[in-house]
Amino acid sequence: MSASGAVWRNWARNQAVTPVRVERPSSVAAVQRAVVAAGAVGLRVKAVGSGHSFSGIALAPGVQLDLFDLAGLIGVDTVAGQVTLAAGTRLFELPRLLRPYGLALPNLGDVDRQTISGATSTGTHGTGGRYGGLATQIVALTLVVGDGTLLRVSATENPELLPATRLGLGALGIVVDVTLQCVPAFLLHAVEAAEPLEEVLEHYLDRSDHSDHYEFFWFPHTETALTKTNTRLPLESGRSPLGKVARFVDDELLANGVYRGICALGAVAPATVPGFNRLAARLTGRREFTDVSHRVFLTNRTVRFQEMEYALPRALVPAAVREVRALIEARGWRISFPIEVRSAAADDVWLSTAAGRETGYIAVHRYYREDPAAYFQAVEAIMRAHGGRPHWGKTHDRDAASLRTDYPHFDDFLSVRDRLDPERRFSNSYLERVLGR
Ligand SMILES: Cc1cc2nc3c(=O)[nH]c(=O)nc-3n(C[C@H](O)[C@H](O)[C@H](O)COP(=O)(O)OP(=O)(O)OC[C@H]3O[C@@H](n4cnc5c(N)ncnc54)[C@H](O)[C@@H]3O)c2cc1C
Repeated sequence: MSASGAVWRNWARNQAVTPVRVERPSSVAAVQRAVVAAGAVGLRVKAVGSGHSFSGIALAPGVQLDLFDLAGLIGVDTVAGQVTLAAGTRLFELPRLLRPYGLALPNLGDVDRQTISGATSTGTHGTGGRYGGLATQIVALTLVVGDGTLLRVSATENPELLPATRLGLGALGIVVDVTLQCVPAFLLHAVEAAEPLEEVLEHYLDRSDHSDHYEFFWFPHTETALTKTNTRLPLESGRSPLGKVARFVDDELLANGVYRGICALGAVAPATVPGFNRLAARLTGRREFTDVSHRVFLTNRTVRFQEMEYALPRALVPAAVREVRALIEARGWRISFPIEVRSAAADDVWLSTAAGRETGYIAVHRYYREDPAAYFQAVEAIMRAHGGRPHWGKTHDRDAASLRTDYPHFDDFLSVRDRLDPERRFSNSYLERVLGR
């Protein structure tokens, strides 16, 4: 245990809190003791992952639990292809942990700095019209609930709690381990190309349906989108990775180094942004390579930004992107960051942004030194008009009253919360806003 006094900030530097105290439990029993001790003095308690959420979901003004020491592989079922991980395991540790068993996660998001419990608790997803977000891979988990007791949830133990606890927003307890369904390790053949935006929008639904992992980035103020189409291949197909130099020039120098300078300049001299975006779109050439899945899914993001992302019924995505484009033009904003468009399969996780419907995601970003409020609020209005659901870990202005209408199982989730955390030991002001009480 450590006394606090230190300010905790998230990755994007838009959320900060000074916890009453910070604890770093290294065992499940220590997590239980921390929850009971917090309750005894009327403090709230919250686990924090890697602080990669943009929303205030991870803020812990009472007791902050840092699960850095509760990490690693707990068990492997080689027959079922399932692995059990301690809650604080970082996603970047997974390739090393899973390699000896020839396993991999079927899909990943853009980065791997998050913890497995933080990522699943907010609905972190990658892209793939036939693939779900990370929480859909959870087949079992163990939680410390409000009274400090351990609760096991699996297909055979409290199975009725699985649809809520797989994606619990940190509101149902402290997750101490998760069991994930993996797949045999695989390769991805990546094709990246610059294409006209209108054609990309016309083909978005078809490509999302028929590609394994399809996404595109549109550079505002240009007619160009960068498409990424990844096709799954068995390991035996053989790798043909990007050379070290090509990877460094494209991903480190252009995507991060030069880009940081462009964003910083754009923040003080917005008129430069459209020209730079057109240049970036021109410089983005065709690349084709094949590598192990995590090396293709992941990118290294060192330019700090703010983000809002909405999940829409997939068929509405092209129209919504066109509306965002018209909005940017009408308002005269200079937006340096591309808009990212992805997809996910419908799932049965109650608070998943893809619950019950084939989903497309639209993400908007601003450099972290720019005020995103006006842009995000106007884009949010467009997304709401299309029945959009906000990513729980990203910026949005929604509250429980409006979210209830988006999620058929919203009240079922609240009933589970009443059962597992009747005293709201795990709440914070973000959860009060989005869950209502
Ligand atoms: C650069 C960057 C790239 C990103 N890319 C993507 C992407 O591609 N796709 C996507 O969907 N999202 C993406 N995100 C968002 C990010 O994946 C989520 O916000 C994720 O929740 C962050 O995980 P974390 O470990 O940092 O958790 P935190 O942000 O620290 O916490 C998130 C929530 O999880 C809870 N939590 C953490 N650990 C536990 C536990 N043990 N028990 C109970 N609750 C717990 C916290 O209390 C909090 O409610 C990105 C964010 C950044 C900054």
